[in-house]
Amino acid sequence: MNRERIIEEFVKQINIPSVSGNEEEFSQYLETRLKDLGLSVEKDSFGNIFAILPGNTTGKKPVLFCAHMDTVPTDPVKYYIDGDKIKANGSQILGADDKAATTALLEMLHSLKEEGVSHGDVEVLLTVQEEIGLIGAKNFDLGKARSQFFFVLDYSGPIGLAVYSAPFANEFHFRFFGKAAHAGSEPEKGISAIQALAMAISNMPLGRIDSETTANIGIISGGRATNIVADFAEMKGEARSRNPQKLEKQTQLMLQAAEEAAISVGARVEIDCRREYEGYTLKEDDDIILILKEALSSIGSSLKLVAAGGASDANVFNFKGRKSLVLSCGYEYPHTREEEVSISQMVDLSRLLKEIVLKA
Ligand SMILES: [Zn+2]
Repeated sequence: MNRERIIEEFVKQINIPSVSGNEEEFSQYLETRLKDLGLSVEKDSFGNIFAILPGNTTGKKPVLFCAHMDTVPTDPVKYYIDGDKIKANGSQILGADDKAATTALLEMLHSLKEEGVSHGDVEVLLTVQEEIGLIGAKNFDLGKARSQFFFVLDYSGPIGLAVYSAPFANEFHFRFFGKAAHAGSEPEKGISAIQALAMAISNMPLGRIDSETTANIGIISGGRATNIVADFAEMKGEARSRNPQKLEKQTQLMLQAAEEAAISVGARVEIDCRREYEGYTLKEDDDIILILKEALSSIGSSLKLVAAGGASDANVFNFKGRKSLVLSCGYEYPHTREEEVSISQMVDLSRLLKEIVLKA
């Protein structure tokens, strides 16, 4: 792998803005690069890129690598190089999430070509709008991909981590309806929606529920003036668990707390509760994990399986029946102004991706 080429490529990529929903310029850049490297490229109507490097030998299984093209909101990126690290300069995010992945992917494809390696089909899926709800992945037609093994390059930390389990999540919208009244002259004629909401929150188990389960109310609003008993208040929240039964139980407790609180003050509550995404847990001896383990050991590294608290495109693919693992890409502190990436870890990531292709 070519370290200088990796640095140059990464810097080029982080200088192309690609905030969720505005990936067009970056996606055009990547499309050109992939074509130059000999891949056939198509873009679907959502903006996802699906590219194939046809195999040049028989007897190898196709593998798919996925990364997302979008970043969280940021102004033009400023960076500096500090030894082995490329860092954001403290005013914006760097965008190594997920441009460390797209950089390493291109380098791997480059090296397959340069070294004339014999390989099976390599499929590349670059999604849009991952950061705002896995939108690209949810809308991608998986029928296009032949691979049964999906490696999603989208996790922080040193090379060797793999997310084999991620949570299911439900999201909630509670709307409390009370009755308005003058708060000074006749408060007894009113029913406070805010009081119902507050009581509901205080009766909900929230925060860290157990090692696999979390819950949060993240947004509340309501009321119109200090001298009016509030006739309306609403809040939004979520619950997650890697165990679907525990998620169901937590969900019921939250719904029950809201209903009981509304009844106890004479208010009414309407609740929307929907599945935000599906979770997954792979078996430790699944083929995809064995391939990864072998590939890691041939670059002198070892596998560390991680159970995550958040979702990625892999949640979507696993739910649709394609075994998917999320791999760490050598960056740290994503979504913050302290975000940084290790150059040698990007080199290792591209070496790892190549070994995965060879081991498949
Ligand atoms: Zn990401």
